[in-house]
Amino acid sequence: MSLLILGSGMAGVTLAEEALKGNPSALVTLITEDTDGYYSRPMLSHGFSRDDIESKIILKSFDALHHGGLKVMAGCKVKGIDRSKKTVRYVENGLEGAVGFDRLVLAPGSDASIPPPLKPFEDLLYVINSLQDLKALRRRRTEIQGRGQQPHWAIIGGGLIGSEVASDLARSGDAVTLFHALPRLMERQLIEEDSNTLKAVLLSLGIQVQLEAQVTGFERQGEQFGVQMDNALSSGFDGIIAATGFKPRTQLAEAAGLEVNRGILVNSWLKTNDETIYALGDAAECADGQIYAYVMPIRHQALWLAKYLNGHTDAPWEPPAFSPRAKVHGFTAAHAYRI
Ligand SMILES: Cc1cc2nc3c(=O)[nH]c(=O)nc-3n(C[C@H](O)[C@H](O)[C@H](O)COP(=O)(O)OP(=O)(O)OC[C@H]3O[C@@H](n4cnc5c(N)ncnc54)[C@H](O)[C@@H]3O)c2cc1C
Repeated sequence: MSLLILGSGMAGVTLAEEALKGNPSALVTLITEDTDGYYSRPMLSHGFSRDDIESKIILKSFDALHHGGLKVMAGCKVKGIDRSKKTVRYVENGLEGAVGFDRLVLAPGSDASIPPPLKPFEDLLYVINSLQDLKALRRRRTEIQGRGQQPHWAIIGGGLIGSEVASDLARSGDAVTLFHALPRLMERQLIEEDSNTLKAVLLSLGIQVQLEAQVTGFERQGEQFGVQMDNALSSGFDGIIAATGFKPRTQLAEAAGLEVNRGILVNSWLKTNDETIYALGDAAECADGQIYAYVMPIRHQALWLAKYLNGHTDAPWEPPAFSPRAKVHGFTAAHAYRI
């Protein structure tokens, strides 16, 4: 029985390694458009205060995974799933190919989500969702520093990722202005008291925090950029980073006729409406309507699915208890996070 896994993030790699551990003779193939290796996505938001990040962020090279008995097809962008032929179509270096499966697991992760009013400005925005994104931001930073200037960043969104990135850039010596539409930071995860502590920590790092700042657009100002709000323009930024949420990658599943809602819909066995196709990680919307977009429950899903696919359990997947934690330099919440 061949198992094909789409995606080399935490979900895909953990599943692949565990599936082989549980059954060393299994035929497991991992297909991914990544080329740098399996990297730590959470480390992206601390990608400025460390010079060695581009090597330290790689948890395992694809060669090392390959030697573990796993077939890794790196640099292959999947373009479609043919459910009747049980194949996945991909493009590698401009050439099309196809690979077959008995069982397919979708772990394509999520994209950065840009709210509709800001979509027309997408070309002006940086996001921090992949290693490629981090590299692009680091190149821009080096370019500005090369001119003897201190970079000044506008970060749109004071949620978990916006706050983490703001703190890391500030700690690295850059000027940062954080724009947040709501009256307090990380309002989805923190109670008001902790939001206030977070704001105080960011201010102490030298970050300008603008709350209730409804950003409506951006403008190019020569080499720099301006942030347009309802009734004010804030100017002089070297780059704008959008940290405005995430969007599960559902397009391939939807085009293949699988049921999707916010994410790819799966039942309590992480199975889609196709008997042979499963989904997990950021892309999957679980039976309880939740998308578990944190490493702890995703690892838990992957360990469970490996056991299930190897026939070592038939009990459904139960979400574990977990609590996320913001990696903001100098900040500790006094109360539990909400999920
Ligand atoms: C900046 C940042 C900081 C974070 N910090 C934390 C944290 O501190 N704690 C925490 O719990 N969570 C954190 N998260 C969330 C966590 O990283 C994600 O929930 C987790 O990495 C998702 O794993 P995944 O395997 O589902 O998806 P991903 O890691 O996104 O992997 C998706 C994979 O699918 C591949 N892929 C997608 N489409 C295709 C295609 N068409 N063809 C081929 N390959 C494809 C991609 O190349 C990638 O390899 C953070 C996320 C970000 C962005």
